[in-house]
Amino acid sequence: MTSNISILVINCGSSSLKFSLITASGDQLIQGIAEQLGTADAALSFEREGIDRVISISGADHKQVLDAVFGEIKDFAVAAIGHRVVHGGEDFKTAALIDADVLAAIEKNSSLAPLHNPANLVGIKAAQTAYPSLPQVAVFDTAFHQTMPPVAYRYALPEPLYTEQGIRRYGFHGTSHAYVSRRASQLSEAPAPHGWVCAHLGNGASTCAIFDGKSLDTSMGLTPLEGLVMGTRSGSIDPGLIIHLISRLGYSADEVDGLLNKKSGLLGLSGTTNDMRELGELAADPQSQHQTSAQLAIDVFCYKAAQSISAMICALPTFTGLLFTGGIGENAHPIRAQICGHLQHFGLSIDTEANQTRKPAERCISCIDSTRQVWVIPTDEEGQIAFDTRQLI
Ligand code: AMP
Repeated sequence: MTSNISILVINCGSSSLKFSLITASGDQLIQGIAEQLGTADAALSFEREGIDRVISISGADHKQVLDAVFGEIKDFAVAAIGHRVVHGGEDFKTAALIDADVLAAIEKNSSLAPLHNPANLVGIKAAQTAYPSLPQVAVFDTAFHQTMPPVAYRYALPEPLYTEQGIRRYGFHGTSHAYVSRRASQLSEAPAPHGWVCAHLGNGASTCAIFDGKSLDTSMGLTPLEGLVMGTRSGSIDPGLIIHLISRLGYSADEVDGLLNKKSGLLGLSGTTNDMRELGELAADPQSQHQTSAQLAIDVFCYKAAQSISAMICALPTFTGLLFTGGIGENAHPIRAQICGHLQHFGLSIDTEANQTRKPAERCISCIDSTRQVWVIPTDEEGQIAFDTRQLI
């Protein structure tokens, strides 16, 4: 293939679809999102050459959206389609060229990601119908973490649960951790091999220990619920709490699921919002009835993130530095400062001015005499999917 041809990246959720057309040099020619699919309010918004457009696609399903997307990109040469797939189980250690066996394996792993993998399959099948002659590649959120050693991925549970049921830690956000650590290693002048801890802090949040480009541990587990406090997810809790909720307080399994995934985290602690920007404003407002609870939510978020970062440092043979990414990690300088404040024993010291300066986007924010580096690196999951797809074809 010629390198000046673009890769179409598709990220299919249950009722939404994001897409992006990316050149070999990483430029996004067109990108967009279709939301509320299957409803009368379905709409496709996209940006092309700096101009935003919204098209009503009332009632459209994934296949019809993709037909609309393909109509918009018909003037561009597309070399391949890269699909984000959430769960690859132990079947995929890298991205994979999609064929019947790969489709069957994604289907099999749907039991581990029942909300995500079936939606990803819908997107793949629609794209195959529309572009039967193009190579299609699956890029898995879990694949980057397949280099974790058993000491990191096994739960202390009876072995048959792992060997027969696949119950182990898999980790997610793999494309983000792979991209951000790769960029850090390109930008940093620290002697290689590098040992990074990457903190992806957004509505979903996870940490990852990466040594010489390989994931050695990560905070998410069998599901994306384990680990840090997130927007609406509790993160790690005492497993005995689940038994208590069911056997003492009469919760059903679905109610526990809803509680821990949708009503907890920043939302549960603050009692008002899962949005970190709003929490910052509420915590600073003495008139707000939520001031104390908003501050508590921020404090717990930062404390748990710092604890998780320190746990990731244990996985690394050498520790080069800490990388912040995700909506909170990239934008919220008070949160970065508070997290680093918990980590001073680890040689992390940030420069106040560099931390508060927003440009350039990718930047080192540690003090000149800090033993370890601290970087802010905007994530680019679509760019990483395009990169992996291009590598494979
Ligand atoms: P993501 O899931 O990566 O899109 O991140 C979403 C989170 O980033 C939300 O909690 C936002 O409030 C938060 N966020 C985005 N921009 C800012 C900002 N300038 N300050 C604080 N939080 C922000």
